[in-house]
Amino acid sequence: MKEIADNLMLKKNDIVEILIDDIGSDGEGIGRHNGMTLFVKGAVTGDKVRALILKMKKSYGYAKILEILIESPHRVKPLCPISMKCGGCQLSHISYEQQLEYKVNKVKNNLGRIGGVWDYNLEPVIAMEEPYYYRNKAQFPVGCDKDGNVIIGFYAAHTHSIIDAKKCYLQPEFAWIVKDKLREFLSDENISIYDEATHTGLVRHVLIRLGFITGDVCVCLVLNGNRFSKNKRDNENILIKFVDKLKEAELDQNKFKIKSICLNENKEKTNVILGDKIIPIYGETYITDYIGNIKYKISPLSFYQVNPYQMVKLYDKVISYANLTGNEIVWDVYCGIGTISLYLAKKAKQVYGVEIVPQAVEDAKENARINGIENVEFFVGAAEDVLPEKYEQDKSMQADIVVVDPPRKGCDAVLLNTIVNMEPKRIVYVSCDPGTLARDVKYLREKGYELKDVAVVDQFGMTVHVEVVTCLHRVNS
Ligand code: SAH
Repeated sequence: MKEIADNLMLKKNDIVEILIDDIGSDGEGIGRHNGMTLFVKGAVTGDKVRALILKMKKSYGYAKILEILIESPHRVKPLCPISMKCGGCQLSHISYEQQLEYKVNKVKNNLGRIGGVWDYNLEPVIAMEEPYYYRNKAQFPVGCDKDGNVIIGFYAAHTHSIIDAKKCYLQPEFAWIVKDKLREFLSDENISIYDEATHTGLVRHVLIRLGFITGDVCVCLVLNGNRFSKNKRDNENILIKFVDKLKEAELDQNKFKIKSICLNENKEKTNVILGDKIIPIYGETYITDYIGNIKYKISPLSFYQVNPYQMVKLYDKVISYANLTGNEIVWDVYCGIGTISLYLAKKAKQVYGVEIVPQAVEDAKENARINGIENVEFFVGAAEDVLPEKYEQDKSMQADIVVVDPPRKGCDAVLLNTIVNMEPKRIVYVSCDPGTLARDVKYLREKGYELKDVAVVDQFGMTVHVEVVTCLHRVNS
């Protein structure tokens, strides 16, 4: 074995002793050695480790733990035995308190370094009561192992090789049972499995959505095609067996009921899981669930927050930041199925929602209807097209309050510019990426908005993902 390296030029296969003093964006431990930053997978802030250098770049490198010399007090034994292999949970070896601290620091550092703002009201982090079993959505890739057996599980970190996970502690047990039943069905019926490399085979993914309040479940199987067999009679027989097998999952419990089974056709060579065609097989093509006392219909193609327990706390924060009196025009930009819009409508004069996925807007309209909410209107389209257009056409649609909840890439520049021109009193920015949030906050601060409040709401225990709600006020308004 090599000597422990202490020279300046670290190289591959050197061995170093380092103290871990931070956690990086993928959950890896960060330590330093002679001015070099080293990323060490599985290491925790406070660990002292002996590590083998795997790869060096000019000023940083990657290393692997050989031995933990001093164990950090924040280190815990993960509940899940495959958490270090699977790409899903990057922080499960770190205590939940420390995970929260990591997330808050990530938000503070991004807002400071990218957004140029350190001074605002940072609220106490809104933690989960139980950081496991919280996801109402499971998305499993389907594949074959080297012996040709069907496996359903998760991609290993940064790869597309599937780990056959029996359990995933982020979902309720019912999702695992459905997954096992599906595996039995696919094996028994000898259904062909999709192979990414050759773009052949049929079954690609399974999506399971669970309504935590209603117990409704939707199972949607993603196919590289639209049926199990070309022969109509055979196809019908297989579909009957498919439904019967999945329904067996209900037998040992009384909380969840499979209300919807559908196929999704995705023939593209793509990493995107779902295609845009849904083929109903059993029941409806949606499930119903509640947030507070508002009822929502959710289709497989629509975005829906994955953690229903924290979602309510997140939306309550949005309500409190919006601080409505009943006279306001509110825009809910990137509105999905209208969850925030309907939540806000009770307290606003009029809410306008905008969303790019047509199916989600259909759901949003239906959700307004079933709840008897009339002061909302939804538009399909890219926010950066719809908002400028509506603003040009009709100045009475000018926003008093704007809520934005963009995907990770943040808000489009044209959209931000239009929002600034509308001069809303407050902008409530919900973000799942502190980096792009900070970039957009910087722009808004330059255009006359002040960052007042920041609340980190943990929606994704055990993972590096961060959700944050912020409130910006227009200066002098
Ligand atoms: N506010 C909703 C959804 C937020 S997720 C909720 O809390 O449930 C972000 C949403 O933005 C997704 O529904 C996505 O389809 C939508 N989206 C992505 N790009 C968009 C764009 N350019 N214009 C409008 N909507 C967009």
